[in-house]
Amino acid sequence: MPRVLLPVGYLTRTRQRGPGPDTVVGMTPAESSTSRKSPVATPSVTDKLVSANRGYAGGFADPGMDAKPVLRVAVVACMDARLDLHAALGLELGDCHTIRNAGGVVTDDTIRSLTISQRALGTRSVVLIHHTDCGLLRITEEFRFELEAEVGQRPAWSVESFRDLDQDVRQSIRRVETSPFLLHTDDVRGFVFDVRTGLLREVSAEQITAGD
Ligand code: ZN
Repeated sequence: MPRVLLPVGYLTRTRQRGPGPDTVVGMTPAESSTSRKSPVATPSVTDKLVSANRGYAGGFADPGMDAKPVLRVAVVACMDARLDLHAALGLELGDCHTIRNAGGVVTDDTIRSLTISQRALGTRSVVLIHHTDCGLLRITEEFRFELEAEVGQRPAWSVESFRDLDQDVRQSIRRVETSPFLLHTDDVRGFVFDVRTGLLREVSAEQITAGD
């Protein structure tokens, strides 16, 4: 059976693997000078993250915050690696909840997080962010059936793919506004982030799609 592949640029086509067993890399200068024949495993990406965390924690001071976001806002955005939410929106530690998934779509699980965000942690505003060149513009719901053909089981979840960014932002706004679980739906706004300019463009909730 053919393997299901996502479009180039959305997810990698093949799983990244570490170096082969005969590859000797990742030795520190000290190790390489004293034991050239002893292979040292290349640090995995997770190892690098853990190492970076040690540096982070070394300069970290307890900010003394509680868990309630200072700006009382929850941001729902795509998981895209080119979207640095805190930098793009001028957010600082403790300011907001960030809820991210493929597409930045409002699923049941997004509503779950927003409900907890509002009811347990006091947020009132919701900002929805899609972005240009999103991977979900390039796949379809057929992906679920392709998965079924490959693994013998169709996922219960929807792909939530979309063809029109603005229309999907509007749909996301409506899903938030019509959720019976949310306490605050009077300040819900949606945007498209341009990955090439870094600019946000607001999408009107009322705008009618004109075909492009
Ligand atoms: Zn995306």
